[in-house]
Amino acid sequence: MNQMRGSWVIRKLKKGIPFLVVLFAPLSCGPKSSSITKECILPVDQTGTITGRWTAKPVPVAVIANDFNSAELSAISAAISTWNSFFKASKGFSLYLSNSVPAGTQTYTIATVCGQNLVSANGFMGPVLIQKARSGWPENWKSAMALTSTCPVAVAGSQFRSFISGVLQINFQHFFNSGQPIPDLQSVVAHELGHLLGLDHSCSGSGSQGIPSCSGADPEYLEALMYPALGFDGNQGRISRSVQKNDQERANCLY
Ligand SMILES: [Zn+2]
Repeated sequence: MNQMRGSWVIRKLKKGIPFLVVLFAPLSCGPKSSSITKECILPVDQTGTITGRWTAKPVPVAVIANDFNSAELSAISAAISTWNSFFKASKGFSLYLSNSVPAGTQTYTIATVCGQNLVSANGFMGPVLIQKARSGWPENWKSAMALTSTCPVAVAGSQFRSFISGVLQINFQHFFNSGQPIPDLQSVVAHELGHLLGLDHSCSGSGSQGIPSCSGADPEYLEALMYPALGFDGNQGRISRSVQKNDQERANCLY
């Protein structure tokens, strides 16, 4: 029931491992403001970019509070608000319900994401955690700024699988360290929250069935929040915090 699909680096199915999506550095397009579209549009060449959906809303999301400083928590909160504002305008509901849990509970990994009841002794029993990864980041994913793992299950009669849990890990082992270019955390989290709600990248490095190659892709795919990479201008991480037209059109098909 679980799948692993690493965009760009790995794309294969492997039983018993969650679905993974990541945000890589570098390369990106500049930010672009956007208005709200309420239409569901899933282009033929993006039919493979839907990974699942949450059937119960809102989705409780817990941030490991003491894992982040106040500025980081604000960035995460702003990213959550970005998606909530979009869905509020488009569908009339907030998708994410943010919460926090004490420090010392960040024990969930890629391998354990499909275990339900994330965190028990310390409280939060919701389906989603956001945590900082300072060590143990997989070597073959070290160019990834963050990684979102979801656990989808098939639903009878539905074209979409249903998520039962998810972990959003931010790569503080290889990024966000002084002395090197610092990514824009809000942009990174906004992108990962797009994965968390069921969107794969707008295009991929190599292209594959149902997901177009970014090379020569529709300009709207290149401008999307869900474009697979985020770059730097000097030491400054580029800003891509908004839900763009292609992101909105695909998200509208899910909820
Ligand atoms: Zn990504």
